[in-house]
Amino acid sequence: CSIRENAESKIYNRLDTLYAKGRQRKAQGGSKLLLGVLGCMAERVKDDLIANHHADIVCGPDSYLSLPDLIAQAELGHKAIDVDLSTTETYRDVIPQRIGDNRISGFVSIMRGCNNFCHYCIVPYTRGRERSRDVESILREVHDLSDRGFKEVTLLGQNVNSYGKNLEEPMTFAQLLREVNKIEGLKRIRFMTSHPKDLSEELIDAMRDCEKVCLHLHLPLQSGSSRILKLMNRRYTKEQYLDLVDRIRAKVPDVSLTTDIIVGFPGETEEDFLETMDVVRKVRYDSAFTFQYSRRTGTPAAAMEDQIPVDVVKDRFDRLLAEVQEISREVTARHTHTVQEVLVESINEQDPSLVTGRMSNNTLVHFKGDASLIGTLQNVYLDECRGFYYMGTPVENN
Ligand code: SAH
Ligand code: SF4
Repeated sequence: CSIRENAESKIYNRLDTLYAKGRQRKAQGGSKLLLGVLGCMAERVKDDLIANHHADIVCGPDSYLSLPDLIAQAELGHKAIDVDLSTTETYRDVIPQRIGDNRISGFVSIMRGCNNFCHYCIVPYTRGRERSRDVESILREVHDLSDRGFKEVTLLGQNVNSYGKNLEEPMTFAQLLREVNKIEGLKRIRFMTSHPKDLSEELIDAMRDCEKVCLHLHLPLQSGSSRILKLMNRRYTKEQYLDLVDRIRAKVPDVSLTTDIIVGFPGETEEDFLETMDVVRKVRYDSAFTFQYSRRTGTPAAAMEDQIPVDVVKDRFDRLLAEVQEISREVTARHTHTVQEVLVESINEQDPSLVTGRMSNNTLVHFKGDASLIGTLQNVYLDECRGFYYMGTPVENN
């Protein structure tokens, strides 16, 4: 992943370690170790991975079909690179192996790329332009999963709310949800991520109407300051975001909201940061992913003056995290002493007399049960909330 610097640093270290191992192996008479980097980081760093980080093969996300060629070239002793981005590739015919999957819940990619160019973000450069996978191929994959016993799908895209715009026969994400909702055997539908600027009333209606669509919406805020949102190129204001939240909650009561927030974007003042805290207190998210701004070379924000000193970012980050966690604990506990439907996913890892599943809003629940329950929906009385999960007792299903 290229989105933040930390993940890339790990890969640089890994390449150093593997290179040393390869040399040692060669010295002991073993075969040559070929090092390859595949995906977004290959796309961003390109031939520098070959020049300075020991890579033999560099393969961007859309070049996976040339991988056999690239490996063949590398085996002949050449450095091999293909980082061409496609405007059409949607991976529509690639059926994931899903090794290690829990076989209850599967991810389905419905689009690739992103056209939004938020000023901090590297994704549009590493993944290329937005393109939607055609609806038939999506429905085929979901049907296939359902036939194999999967009960839940999560539809994935950088901005699912703009799904379908560039299809030959355009369709909206709300229409897609209604189609997926018809698939028999499937019990739950999740999706992410939704860009607030593109979240339509039609989608809110579909969430309300489709019984399989879960009571959960991930709605990245990024910042609560309209001034910073503008600098980020997010194309909504604090007021528009809060209004959207009100409209969603009016039509889909009890929906859980989660979000992503960045602190320390260039130029962020204490007042801007307090605007973010204000939104966090007003919306009361079920949970939030909080990030310290990471400067990504090539993005407009990386070139901005007024980068925020690390200690200021860290201080704001700690204050935000404390607030988010306190609210999250209170909000998560709101279902204590109610009965909720839980999709059982597995035997509990710590205590095999328990099973673990999720509520529609994605909160984990542990309760007494055995392997026969896996993949079923159970009504569970929630006895106690322990921070971010519940302990429950099964009740008779009607
Ligand atoms: N397409 C999704 C998000 C994809 S990236 C959306 O727009 O909602 C996931 C999250 O990583 C973003 O929501 C953002 O909060 C964070 N992120 C992206 N670029 C970042 C950067 N340069 N520094 C810190 N966090 C970043
Ligand atoms: Fe990045 Fe913005 Fe696209 Fe999300 S919508 S992937 S944050 S550019």
